[in-house]
Amino acid sequence: MSLRTRTVSRLFAVLLLATLCSPSPHAQTPATATTLRNATALRDTFISQVHAAGFTCTIAPPIIVVEDVPSFGQYDDSTNTLRTSDWTLLNPREKAFFIQLAGPGSTEDAAHAVFEKAAHQWIFVHELGHWWQACRNLTTTSSQPWQVESGANRISLAYWRKNDPSVPTLMFSLFHAVLDHAPSPVPAGQAVDTYFNTNYQTLGPSPAYPWFQSKMTVMLGDEKPEPTFAAVLASTKN
Ligand SMILES: [Zn+2]
Repeated sequence: MSLRTRTVSRLFAVLLLATLCSPSPHAQTPATATTLRNATALRDTFISQVHAAGFTCTIAPPIIVVEDVPSFGQYDDSTNTLRTSDWTLLNPREKAFFIQLAGPGSTEDAAHAVFEKAAHQWIFVHELGHWWQACRNLTTTSSQPWQVESGANRISLAYWRKNDPSVPTLMFSLFHAVLDHAPSPVPAGQAVDTYFNTNYQTLGPSPAYPWFQSKMTVMLGDEKPEPTFAAVLASTKN
């Protein structure tokens, strides 16, 4: 083996080792690092408001991971991990979805702004709602899917009404647009919550899922009097 061949082989071995040891696929970019910082700050503000409302939780604040997550947010109570996405991680189909939500002829900047409110505010706090449900022993094993999903939306709605009403204003316009443009997937004569609970396993990954999220949130929007954040936290129980 010549010196040059040995050097090349050693370099190759070092590169291979570096690849095996690298922290990918979660390597940070400036954009994902900013998202992680902002998401951590929002998580901490949410939890400080839980404490201010007089509540505590024995579960640690969730670990935040920034990666492409198909539903733009997900809380896993088995690992206490909250996954959130970033605009730079979206695939073309996902970006096209937000361009469509932003309205006909929208720029990428307008679509990005909708994504920030929907994913990093509304959905992110919905996922923190699932963390709070875990704190209160309310999970999909102890409760029906409608109660769990509607409960997380109720927490997000109460939090944003208190902290930034422009978030629910935007989300309600999106939810109403979904309901106006997509037919109800619920067979005539069946209750929406019962149908959701019975068919949850197949609805989750289906195109009908946004319709159910829209329907349950619009129903929550009609709740009178509007429940406070503290009242919603208190009523989250198994
Ligand atoms: Zn959820």
